[in-house]
Amino acid sequence: MIAIYPGSFDPITLGHIDIIERGAKLFDRVIVAVLSNPSKKPLFTVDKRIEQITECTQHIANVKVDSFVGLTVEYAKLHHAGVLLRGLRVLSDFEKELQMAHTNKTLNHDIETVFLATTKEYSFLSSSIVKEIAQFGGTIDHLVSENVAQDMYSKYQNQ
Ligand code: ADP
Repeated sequence: MIAIYPGSFDPITLGHIDIIERGAKLFDRVIVAVLSNPSKKPLFTVDKRIEQITECTQHIANVKVDSFVGLTVEYAKLHHAGVLLRGLRVLSDFEKELQMAHTNKTLNHDIETVFLATTKEYSFLSSSIVKEIAQFGGTIDHLVSENVAQDMYSKYQNQ
């Protein structure tokens, strides 16, 4: 079974990597799919995010990194994926994720959304938190992979 793990990953955090590692044990292949959303103004370009994710998931053999525009279920169908993988941290994630899972089910009945509960030490961790800390010169080494931390430090140093 192929699973798609869709998201913004702006940037990828240790919480995302944990979901990818665990998902890769459950499914034959996990495709990490960076959503290219023209209405959002991301910190990193889609190509940079793909590069970052590729580097920090290179230890996992059955992971592929890609990007897409448009509906996740259409992307999943194109890649013969039966599962959309998502992570759940707190109650507020649940509401949003459940709505999305139900919506996707109405669009394609054959694709299941599978949720993995966050590992508890990452339950507070989000891309936004990482950006907020880095913006004010704080340490993010314990929250993201080394390559992402370096990219973040240089980004904010140059601003
Ligand atoms: P989106 O913009 O689609 O929410 P994100 O990149 O923020 O994309 O997150 C992608 C997925 O990863 C979502 O399902 C989100 O709930 C999950 N996720 C993000 N951070 C964590 C974490 N620390 N632990 C577990 N799951 C997480």
